[in-house]
Amino acid sequence: MTQQICPICDCQNKMPSIAKIALLPDMDHDLLACTDCNTAFMSPMPEHDELIKFYQGDYYQTNNQKDFENGIWFATHQLQKKQGRLLDIGCHTGHFIAGIDSASEWDVVGTDISEDVVNYVKEQHQLEAYSGELHSLKLDAASFDAIRVQDVLEHVCDPKAFLQECHRLLKPAGDIFLSVPNGETDRLPIRRYYQKFQRAALTPPGHLFYFSKQAINDLTQQCGFSITSMHSYHFRSGFRNHGWLPQKKSWVQSYTPKNKENKQSKPLNMAQINKNASQGLRQYWRRIRENFYTLPGWQKYALDIQIHLRKAG
Ligand SMILES: [Zn+2]
Repeated sequence: MTQQICPICDCQNKMPSIAKIALLPDMDHDLLACTDCNTAFMSPMPEHDELIKFYQGDYYQTNNQKDFENGIWFATHQLQKKQGRLLDIGCHTGHFIAGIDSASEWDVVGTDISEDVVNYVKEQHQLEAYSGELHSLKLDAASFDAIRVQDVLEHVCDPKAFLQECHRLLKPAGDIFLSVPNGETDRLPIRRYYQKFQRAALTPPGHLFYFSKQAINDLTQQCGFSITSMHSYHFRSGFRNHGWLPQKKSWVQSYTPKNKENKQSKPLNMAQINKNASQGLRQYWRRIRENFYTLPGWQKYALDIQIHLRKAG
């Protein structure tokens, strides 16, 4: 048990360490679980150098084609206004915002912690992008109509300060599209690995926080947002984490140190992108899946949560 102030709900309790966890081999941290809000978090938080080293190399290998198509879908189905200014925090290779840019009149801006990927975004897509942590960028207050925070909040050392900065950057009644893992499901394999092997599990995606759904609810409201919708997705992965479906054969390897291999980034196949967009297949499946997600009782077992927030007041 460690006496600690919870960085999410501010309670000061004795918290149990539920596992050892690491971003890099031989740099172990405790995974503490808050007894009040049930958020688990790395303790101590990683140093800046540790984070920079972690995000080097092949961390940014993504499915560019899918990101681009998702950007098109997002522009046509999620963004309610015809135009505005959107900030994508943690924009990776920028294919998502390039998709928005190609399909709408929105101005898009990307940020990422990695200077290399930001240079790539500027050169490849000719889009406005900045490297560094959000606070250090000193972007203008009330300068965005929408902010996308996809799989980012669980990676930052101070999620509360991060959301407060998002609040400052948004115009009144601006929107945040937030995706975050359901921490109570996401943390299960980390614990299982630690209990089985008695050594720290590497966190392949680098999550520092494992939020409970209630904690996300409370935290976003405390930072000045109202929740306009919330739904869960990635059920199969969630069921695997809960042990109701067999784990993938590779699950142990994914938490064990190994040599990273370099994959090549594939160029976009515009013909395929246009075909998918014209057939609307992806959108169709999305709609079916979204109906399934609204079934009550299941949501807490999903791996990820999508939340639409609006700047209150
Ligand atoms: Zn707490």
